[in-house]
Amino acid sequence: MAQQHIVVIGGGTAGLGVIASLRKRRQQLTITLIEPQEYHYYQPGWTLVGAGEYDQLKTRRPLRELIPEGVCWCQDRVSKVDAESQQVHTLQGQTLTYDVLLICCGLTLHWEKIDGLTETLGKNGVTSNYRYDLAPYTWQLVQQLQQGNALFTQPPVPIKCAGAPQKALYLACDYWQKQQRLEHIQSEFCLAGQQLFSVSAFIPELERWMARYHVRINYGCNLVKVDGANHQAWFELTGPEGVRVQVQKSFDMLHVVPPQLPPAFIASSGLGNEGGWCEVDEKTLQHKRFPSVFALGDVVSSPNSKTAAAARKQIVIVARNVLHFLRQQSLTANYDGYSSCPLSVARGKVVLAEFGYNGRLLPTFPLNPLKPHWLGWFLKTRFLPWFYWKGLLQGVEWFTYSKPKR
Ligand SMILES: Cc1cc2nc3c(=O)[nH]c(=O)nc-3n(C[C@H](O)[C@H](O)[C@H](O)COP(=O)(O)OP(=O)(O)OC[C@H]3O[C@@H](n4cnc5c(N)ncnc54)[C@H](O)[C@@H]3O)c2cc1C
Repeated sequence: MAQQHIVVIGGGTAGLGVIASLRKRRQQLTITLIEPQEYHYYQPGWTLVGAGEYDQLKTRRPLRELIPEGVCWCQDRVSKVDAESQQVHTLQGQTLTYDVLLICCGLTLHWEKIDGLTETLGKNGVTSNYRYDLAPYTWQLVQQLQQGNALFTQPPVPIKCAGAPQKALYLACDYWQKQQRLEHIQSEFCLAGQQLFSVSAFIPELERWMARYHVRINYGCNLVKVDGANHQAWFELTGPEGVRVQVQKSFDMLHVVPPQLPPAFIASSGLGNEGGWCEVDEKTLQHKRFPSVFALGDVVSSPNSKTAAAARKQIVIVARNVLHFLRQQSLTANYDGYSSCPLSVARGKVVLAEFGYNGRLLPTFPLNPLKPHWLGWFLKTRFLPWFYWKGLLQGVEWFTYSKPKR
């Protein structure tokens, strides 16, 4: 068989993971990774950094150390894909031809869509666990706050790790409660959507924790503007009849989660669905119109929750299907929509939400999945960070086949 060329766009969780799984199956594959960043980040660790439970430096490593030997690294950014002629164009003017293209470029964070935010991030009490450099500032603010208003926001979904905005809140409230400060701090959760979590089975337990921390929940409440120096935030509030009004809130601490969109080149390359997400078959993860294109991770159009846990399962599906595709065999591996979100409602307590398409519960462990447990905390703080570097990025595929709950 002539040497076939696989091009991978993005060296994040999905990109590095799928390269490792492909190489494990066929060592001699010719693979080029296109990734502009020097560093690779373990983003799930940032929630813990923001809660003083993890070392920021352990969440990033130089990408060079993680790329398997023999894989070519093109340190550049993709500007366009021409799927008809099977070519990828980069910002610095390179053109690469592929036999199979794997799109793993994640999603883009749009801080600039919130008026006044960019200039005040990292000061004036404004922070976010969605950035490596800011997560330590979250913990600093949490420790410093003695009294006042703490606002936590969530933009319209889809976002990556839809539980992360409320995890920041729970872990802050847990700390304030243990320090006997909670009665002096009014926390609010301002979310653009109308429900706390996408899978309704988990909502009653989450509501109980919100009530325990005396959190005011504002649904349909979307952050649009910040004046950091004066500690003011403006929200667009959508009422039950769809009527929109602006409300202003004062804050002493503001934890922001930015609006999130698919990378623009997906739509401009004709690869997107109506929302701009890479349009794949939700089972095989093969592109619906261009068979030599597959996608995985946060960029995909499939209706799963966007997490590293989802990418972990998708990696195996895509690795198997790509090899079948190269051998001109039919694709046999099907993704069930698995995703997981360890909802850390307090230190030592995690509701390990694991679910697939249509909200089907897919628990890995024989425990009540709807209740918090110490095992989830152990997984989140110890096992998963270790497994990420030593397992997922090295082609280890433990627990990648899940069975539906009866
Ligand atoms: C605060 C926070 C908490 C989280 N908590 C959890 C959790 O508890 N559990 C969980 O499972 N997940 C969690 N996640 C989500 C998880 O990190 C993501 O879902 C996962 O990283 C997605 O992997 P990906 O490869 O699709 O995207 P990423 O890992 O973001 O990687 C995308 C890569 O593509 C590159 N790229 C982008 N555009 C281009 C281009 N044009 N050309 C070339 N390269 C490009 C980027 O530089 C980047 O390296 C969390 C995320 C955050 C931010």
